[in-house]
Amino acid sequence: MFERRPLIAGNWKMNLSVKDAVALTEGIAAGMGDLEEVDALVAPPFTTLAAVRQAIGKSKIFLAAQNMYHETSGAYTGEVSGRMIQEAGCTHVILGHSERRSLLHETSQDIDMKVKEASVLGLIPIVCIGETLEEREAEQTFDVLKKQLDESFQNCIIDQLLLPSTILAYEPVWAIGTGKTATPDQAQEVHAFIRQWIETTFTAGASHQIRILYGGSAKASNIAELMAQPDIDGALVGGASLKADSFVPMIRFNQ
Ligand code: PEP
Repeated sequence: MFERRPLIAGNWKMNLSVKDAVALTEGIAAGMGDLEEVDALVAPPFTTLAAVRQAIGKSKIFLAAQNMYHETSGAYTGEVSGRMIQEAGCTHVILGHSERRSLLHETSQDIDMKVKEASVLGLIPIVCIGETLEEREAEQTFDVLKKQLDESFQNCIIDQLLLPSTILAYEPVWAIGTGKTATPDQAQEVHAFIRQWIETTFTAGASHQIRILYGGSAKASNIAELMAQPDIDGALVGGASLKADSFVPMIRFNQ
């Protein structure tokens, strides 16, 4: 038995038409059947959220947005609020993905405001952190991750309030979409570090409850060995989540 319920989450990024997103959702739902012991989640583009929510129907797939703005409403052209994604059926939201940090210059301070807004609304944040290859090679991994954690959770640290449902995702930037996966030992070492950070910054109880996902070229062929690590509670999956044939075996990793 797992101490924490495993979660396999698919980040569809800027891919799929409404029709293809619905078909993929139906394929995942059919492939999951009545699977009980693992949570599955999909994070489609904003424009497909409502249709995917409908396609999920009564199946047990959680729905996440890939981003949100930290304000509730107002003159923020082009932004989408947490309330809006909730209205579209989301229970979760991915925050601080490395593509947003690097391509869209999102900072940990931005993410901090979003984590706060999501928590206030009761949306479960999936907060991504990870080091670049240069940072790993310069042996800065733990310093970089600590800084990202301290800054992305600043408001939670000040209020000493971290939702036990909050999810963290360790995504080494050098492993995202590159086909290079962190070894199970490399990932476990970092996950243990993150869990210790939660304990030191918040409580031992929170550190036992909070799920930490691994992301970075996770696929059907390596998911079982990653999930065998004591501090890896699931995966955030990009490429391999875009087809039911590659994603469903990941959700069924322990069968
Ligand atoms: C991601 O984008 O979160 C990710 C982990 O992508 P991939 O699985 O394709 O490396």
